[in-house]
Parts: sequence; C-alpha cells; structure tokens
Amino acid sequence: MVAALRMQQNQMMTPNPYKTALAQFDRAVKYLDYDDSIIEFMRYPRREFTVNFPVRRDDGRVEMFTGYRVHHSTILGPSKGGIRYDLHVNMDEVRALAMWMSWKCSLVGLPYGGAKGGVIVDPTKLSQRELENLTRRYASELIPLISPHADIPAPDMGTNPQMMAWFMDTYSMTVGYSVPAIVTGKPISVGGSEGRTVSTGRGVVINMVEALKRSGVNDFSQIRVVVQGFGNVGSNAAAYAHELGFKVVAVSDVYGGIYNPNGLDIPSLLEHQTINRRVQGFAGSDVVTNEELLLLPCDVLLPCAMEGQLTERNATQVQARLVVEGANGPTDPEADDIFHDRGIQVVPDILANSGGVIVSYFEWIQDLQSFFWDEAEVFRQLDRILVRGYDLTMRTAEEYRVDMRTAAQIAAIKRVADALKTRGFYP
Ligand code: GLU
Repeated sequence: MVAALRMQQNQMMTPNPYKTALAQFDRAVKYLDYDDSIIEFMRYPRREFTVNFPVRRDDGRVEMFTGYRVHHSTILGPSKGGIRYDLHVNMDEVRALAMWMSWKCSLVGLPYGGAKGGVIVDPTKLSQRELENLTRRYASELIPLISPHADIPAPDMGTNPQMMAWFMDTYSMTVGYSVPAIVTGKPISVGGSEGRTVSTGRGVVINMVEALKRSGVNDFSQIRVVVQGFGNVGSNAAAYAHELGFKVVAVSDVYGGIYNPNGLDIPSLLEHQTINRRVQGFAGSDVVTNEELLLLPCDVLLPCAMEGQLTERNATQVQARLVVEGANGPTDPEADDIFHDRGIQVVPDILANSGGVIVSYFEWIQDLQSFFWDEAEVFRQLDRILVRGYDLTMRTAEEYRVDMRTAAQIAAIKRVADALKTRGFYP
C-alpha cells in the first residue's frame, strides 16, 4: 500500500489522542495562574517533522514509507521520547505522545523536554533486513533534528533494542565516530543500561504497590491483577507483579486474552508466548477478548497496550478499584470522570509508566560519562525517583483538591511554565 493511502486511512480510523492530551492540559491549567502567552505556548508542539522515504524490500521492490518526529517542548532540556512502528501512527497521535513525554519528564524531575516519533508500518510484516533498511533510512532522515544534546529517541510500541542499535550505528557512521548517547534502550553491548528493558513494566508495578500501600493494603497475595497488553510493558509488569506475589488473573495481546481466576503462572506463560507468539492457548486458561478483559472481576487493572482503551463505552463496567496506566493515554477524559465518580483510583500514565524514560535518562548519563552502573544501582535510583514523583503528585492532589491525573499534569506543567517564565521568550 502506498504511504499516502496508509496515511489517509489512519486519520479516518483512530480516535484522536491529541484531543485527549489537550483536554487534559486544559483541565489542569484552569488551576494555574500564568500569563495566557505561557499557557498558549505550551499547547503547541515546537517542531513537527514528516518524512517520506524509500525502503528496499527483499524482493527488490522499493516502497515508500511515512514517518514523523515531533518535539513538543525543549524548555527543560533536550527532547526525549520513543519511536513507534505501527499502522495506526499518524501526526496527531505523535503530537499527543510528544506532549505526554514533556509532562512525564517534567513530573519526575528529568532534565528533558518531550518528543515522539513514529513510522506507519506493521513491523511484523517486514523481515529483519527490511526492518534494518527502514530503521537506518528513517534515522538518517532525522539527522538534522537529533543529537545527544538536542533530541534523544528510544523504543516504543513496535520497536526494540536491536532497532536502537541500528539507529545508533547510522548516526555514528554519519558523524564519523560512535555516539551511544544518541538513543536509549540499546542493547548492553553498545552502551545500553542494565535494567532498561524491564524498567517500564517494573515502574508500573512500583506505582501499583505505592497506591495499594498508601490505602492500607500490605498483603498482595489476594490482589487480583489484570494486564492488557503483553509487549515490553505488559509482560514485564506481569512478571514483576507475579514475582512480588500478586495474583495475575488475566493478560492479553493483540490476538486476544486469557483468564484464570486462580492466577496465571507468568514464568510459564512467558515461555509459552516465546514459542507461540501469542498468549492464547496457554494451559488452564479461558479465552477472553480484549474488550472482555477490561471488564473482568479484579482489584487492579493495568492497561499496558495503547491509547483510547477506556472510554465512556466501558468505564461504567470496569470492576477494578485501581487503574495503573502502563500505556500512554489509555483513558479518555469521559472515562476519567466516570472513574472519579465511581471512586476508582487512576494512577496516570505520565507517572505510572515513567520508569522507562527514567532508566533511559540513566542510560544517557552513563553513555555521556562512559561510566556504567550495576543493576542494583539502577533499580535503587529508579525506585527513589518514582516514589518522589508519586509524593509530588499526591501533595499536588491535596493542595488543589483534584484527582491524580490533574495533579500530575499540574505539577508537570508548573515546572515547565516556571522554567519558561524564567528563560523568557526569545528574542
Ligand atoms: N517510549 C517510552 C515512553 O513512552 C520511553 C521513552 C524514552 O525512554 O525516551 O515513555
């Protein structure tokens, strides 16, 4: 399919996450007293880049692909954010994800602005060599925009450490020397960090534990957890939750879900998934659809798939008492209101899934210093920063008497707005 047609179809199919991001922003800034010019400035992405580029397929044909990179903010430092390979990618999605990265980095105190990139492609339909061609060409198209001091990409949906290695190699070959700090989420052998692969999922569980402990729950053995999505975030969240003694009763991937009210053996499920490339078919589990999965009886729901999953259509039927957002933007503003009315606590994405970018930050520091940490040090620092972010969110929620999402947004926006005010508008 030609790139232009793919682009058009995408725009028609998907709900608009940028509308959600802007609605959340508007809700938060109502509580803040900044000049209109400051608020208006933060509503806009700083730069938006679209690239159309050729990729040689294994059969010799050359096919055109479309990719994006958006820098939402560079106020607090270089922009930071992942690259997504998915057929649903479109400019508004990338804009939303870039804006969320700005707030995420700000909330947990990282010296970064926010960015995001994406290519409209189904990576499962390309061979390794085609993926390498696509990644290298996309990376070379981004060269005018990226540098270890300007914009640092990372993995997201559909991308992985190997692709980050190709990305790093392409940049390094272009400038003539090795620059590991150009991208994070790399394999350890080329300057990646211990703990990066598991960090987003681990961070989701740390947030879940924090929320439960603060509501007086210390025995996790009877806490039933449902995980939507079994990619990097969902599978590592399920594994860590299982390790801590939680009962993970259901998980799903793009093909559908599985359920066992007595708990799934996650280590065996991970083996099953490696062999079968899907979770369904796992011994002793019932089949459920992705939609049914969200509504199963449970205590905690971890949406770790993608945006727009919890809406006014299903939020009234969710049975969990706690939602911890592993994905970016899984809950839209109408669903947020329903959860609030029903007393369901939502730990918002910009806090809940910030473990990934926090360890990306550690990776970047290690690359710049050429001094590498052990896993225990990574996890200790990750824990510290996440709990600090959680504390800040709760303090803000109390101060403004708002829910956790609005509080997280307020705290994050304030930090950017204060820096912007202090820096002033150029010229
Ligand atoms: N893609 C991840 C996110 O959405 C990680 C970004 C990064 O590490 O820069 O937070």
